[in-house]
This record gives sequence, C-alpha cells and structure tokens, in this order.
Amino acid sequence: MTTPEPELANQSPPYEDVNLFESDRPLRDAVTGNAAGADREALAAFGRRWGSADMFERGRLANAHPPRLEALDARGFRRDTVEFHPAYHALMAESIAEGLASSTWGADATPASAPAQVTRAARFYMAAQVETGHLCPLTMTRAAAAALAAEPKLAAMVVPKIVTRRYDPRFIPWWEKGGVTLGMGMTERQGGTDVRTNTTRAMPHGEGYLITGHKWFMSAPMCDFFLVLAQAHGGLTCFLMPRFRSDGSVNALHFQRLKDKLGNRSNASSEVEFADAFAWRVGAEGRGVRTIIQMVQLTRLDCAIASAGLMRMALVQALHHARHRIVFQKRLVDQPMMAGVLADMALEAEAAIALVVRLCRSFDLAASDPGEAARARLLTPAVKFWVCKRAPAFVYEAMECLGGNGYVEESLLPRLYREAPVNAIWEGSGNVMALDVLRAATPELAQTVLDALASDGEGLQGMRETRVQTMEALAGGEAQARLAVERLALLAAAAALRASAPAAVAELFARTRLGGSRGVALGTSDIKPADIDSLLARALPE
Ligand SMILES: Cc1cc2nc3c(=O)[nH]c(=O)nc-3n(C[C@H](O)[C@H](O)[C@H](O)COP(=O)(O)OP(=O)(O)OC[C@H]3O[C@@H](n4cnc5c(N)ncnc54)[C@H](O)[C@@H]3O)c2cc1C
Repeated sequence: MTTPEPELANQSPPYEDVNLFESDRPLRDAVTGNAAGADREALAAFGRRWGSADMFERGRLANAHPPRLEALDARGFRRDTVEFHPAYHALMAESIAEGLASSTWGADATPASAPAQVTRAARFYMAAQVETGHLCPLTMTRAAAAALAAEPKLAAMVVPKIVTRRYDPRFIPWWEKGGVTLGMGMTERQGGTDVRTNTTRAMPHGEGYLITGHKWFMSAPMCDFFLVLAQAHGGLTCFLMPRFRSDGSVNALHFQRLKDKLGNRSNASSEVEFADAFAWRVGAEGRGVRTIIQMVQLTRLDCAIASAGLMRMALVQALHHARHRIVFQKRLVDQPMMAGVLADMALEAEAAIALVVRLCRSFDLAASDPGEAARARLLTPAVKFWVCKRAPAFVYEAMECLGGNGYVEESLLPRLYREAPVNAIWEGSGNVMALDVLRAATPELAQTVLDALASDGEGLQGMRETRVQTMEALAGGEAQARLAVERLALLAAAAALRASAPAAVAELFARTRLGGSRGVALGTSDIKPADIDSLLARALPE
C-alpha cells in the first residue's frame, strides 16, 4: 500500500481515464461465458474510450445543460424543435457509431446472429456508466425495429436508415438523412399502464391515417419517427408517425412543454399534441398492444442492462474512494466493516451483470431454441423488476461510502442516484412486471424455465428451497406476485453466476441470498475476509 502524497490532502483522485472493460472482471467473465465469439479487443477499445476523462466530461455537460424546447418562434409560428448541448450530440454520435441503436439487426430487419445481443449489452452497460439520458432514444430506436417487423414494407423503409450507424441530428425529412432515430408515444394523461384508455384517435387518410390527441410522456422528441398508439375503427392500433410528411412539410406534432424531471436530464421528455398528424399503420387495427409489445420487451431488457451499469459505476466510485481515503490510520477499504459493505455491493453488482448478460444470451438464441425463448419471455420482466429495483438503494449505499463528497453535485453520485429510479418506472413499473410474470408463467413455461435454472445452479445452497418458494408464490396470484418475482430473479442470478463466474462467487451469492440469514441493508451478509478480498479484486484491480 502506498501512502497518498500530502498534497492530495487525503482525497481520492478522479476516477477517469480507465478501461471500463478491462477493469471489470465480472463483465469479462459474463461475456466469455455467454458469447464465445465476442470480439474482446473491440470491447476493450470501447471500454477505453468510454472510460476516458473526455467522455465523463461529456456526460457531465449533457446533464448540466439540459435540452430546451423551442415551441414557437418570435412571431408565434410553430417551431416544435428541441435544442441540445453539443455534448449530447457527441454522445449520440459515438453510441450510434458503435451500434448501440442497431447492432442487433441486419439491414433486412432480421435479427443479427449471436452473440449480437450480448456484445451490444456489454457496450450499453459501459455507456450507461458514463451517461444514461442519451441511451433513451437509442434503446427505443433499436427496439422499434422489432415492432416494425409486423409491417415489412415499413421495416424495409426505416431499418436500413437505422443500421447506417450515422447520427444525423438535422431537422430535415428522414429520407434526406444519413441515419434516423425512433421514439414512442403510448402514455396519456389518463393512463400509461392502462393504454386501453388511450383517447388519441386515428382516421384513415390516403395511404395512412390522421392522428388527433395527446401524449403525456413522449421522450426524445427530435426523433425522426415515433411508434404511437391510437384508437382506430377496429380498436387500439400501433402507428408509425414521421416528423415530416411525404410532401416534405413538417408533420403536426405540437410540443407543449418538456418535463422537469428528477433525473435523466440530458434526455428531453415531452408532452405533445397531435393535430391531424399523419402516420402509417403498423400491424392490424385493434392489435396495437400486441404489436408494440415486441418493442417493449427489448426496452425492458435495456432498462435492466442500464441499471446494472449504474450499479457498476456507483460501486467503482465507492471502491476507488475507499482505496484512497485514510480514516483512523487505515485506508477505508481496510476497515473491516467498510470492506464488508463494499464486498456485499460487489457481489450484488456482479450478480446483476451476470444475470442481464445471461438473459441477453437467451435473446440471442431464442429463435432457434424454444427453451431460451421461454427463458427470455419469463425472465425479462423478472430481471427488470429485480435489477431496476436494486439500483436506487445500491447507489445510495455507494454514495454513503464517499461520505460528504458523495452528496455533492460535482461528484458523479448525485446524478447516478437521480437516474436510478427511472428504469423501474418506465417501460412497465414494478407491479406491472410482476403481473407480466404471472401472465407468462403457465405451468408448462414455468416448469421449463425453473428446470433449466435448477440444472444450471445444481448443488448451490438454497436452490431447491427457493425453487419451491417460487412455485408456491407463483400459485399465490397477485398477493404473492412480487415475492415470486424476487425469488425467480434470485434463482436466475445464482444460475447465471454459476455458469459464468468462479464457483466461489456463485456459492457465496447462493449462500447469502438464497440460504442463510441476511439483513435488509448491504453489508449485512456474512462474508469471510478471504472472500472479501477476492470479490474486491475482481470488482476493480488495484
Ligand atoms: C422520464 C420518463 C420518460 C418517459 N418516456 C416515455 C415515452 O417516451 N413514451 C411513453 O409512452 N411513455 C413514457 N414514459 C411514461 C412511462 O412509461 C409511464 O409513466 C409508465 O408506463 C407508468 O404509467 P403512468 O405514469 O400512467 O402510471 P400508472 O399507469 O397510473 O401506474 C401507477 C402505478 O400503478 C401501478 N399499477 C398499474 N396497474 C396496476 C395493476 N393492475 N395492479 C397493481 N399496480 C398497478 C404501476 O406499476 C405504477 O407503479 C416516461 C416516463 C418517464 C418517467
């Protein structure tokens, strides 16, 4: 151990100019275990770039200067544009060039082959550690392609513009642009979860429909297209609404205001009125939910990946600080209780990344393997529920590890903390995820997935009991749905660790989370000193 120079005044140096891939053993193991063919050098280059001080500064700037709505010009003519800081555009350009919005699709709108989901997830997780707001339009863009599959002509029109990997922020018609982004509008004032209460109307018009109504939350309003839900004659229907009509005129999307949000500040979230806005139908009339759910399944997956990324950055900020800060003549990390807290956090964060990467493998293999398709269906809502709900408390604990500095705006922790709850709220909040698990868990599907998890995690302490508890809770309906989902996620996490992490890590997770006794707070697990050391060394090399 080296003693800090006196001029550092016992403060930890900034955590930057690091390689987010090479320094993250749990991530590397999860990628190796789930994506044999992954290009590790490319991931390492991504990790180096995104761990640079330059990228952290972009993340800071994009949030310190949130987007501004230009609703009208000086004379009162409609402008309906949003102005972003250059740092936001720079983040968008880099992420799009790296395929975060497109690498899981081919130009013909068919899924890219394995391990496309896993390698994109690794990048998405690293980018989320630096800036999450700009990931919103990227996740919507990549997910929208799944819904467009219902309308091959529209997919053939739009997807080739997604896979160009070019960011073109100009406010011009989509066909003149080098690349496009897509958003979605489902939520209305009177109902977000219950989209069947949508009042937005769609009337047939020429080759499409005219849409009239409002959306209460529509993020990334400078996207080139939006998937929106509206009531057509045949019921709730999905539509593709362009910012420009085919004659080159601006489509009638009138932004009322931008939300003043707790976090996610670099991303614009609008309230919008559609005044006879033109749109094409996607899928049959009355099949709106069924069509757009293809998209939502992927955005839910991304919520969990991003939350794992937030947890990772909070963990390394805390661990890095604890390795530099001296209290009572010892480094913080050498104080036994702090070491126990950090190790418990490292275990939790390692489980989160192992779990989401294993789930991405199921998405990679689902088309050719019914067992993996069953896992993807049942576990996506469970993993979103668990990882996204763990993140806020986790980030708070990390903040506390930094003491007062963690509470101060200039440190990254307040931004991570404000960011953390949104992944649980949007794309289906906790209860909605639990209801989705109940819906998916037919006896046959539940049996298939639980058998597979039990086989992956065979021999781990508490697997058998947790499986029984999961089955019982699933049978308990809504009253026990949250318990069932938690248990299911824990089973899946233990199984995922068993498959890709060292046996000792999987055993420790199972012993502390599935069996044994443990308190509510992080740091209440019984972890032996040797395991503490190895968990912390895995989490971040000194
Ligand atoms: C920053 C941000 C950006 C957003 N961007 C978009 C966007 O781009 N496009 C878009 O369409 N939406 C967007 N949303 C909206 C978001 O998806 C909704 O807020 C979310 O779906 C919940 O809907 P709601 O707000 O109407 O709440 P409600 O539907 O009223 O739900 C409130 C609570 O009730 C729970 N609940 C609902 N039904 C049940 C039930 N049957 N049983 C038990 N509990 C239940 C929910 O889990 C939730 O916790 C965004 C939201 C945020 C915060």
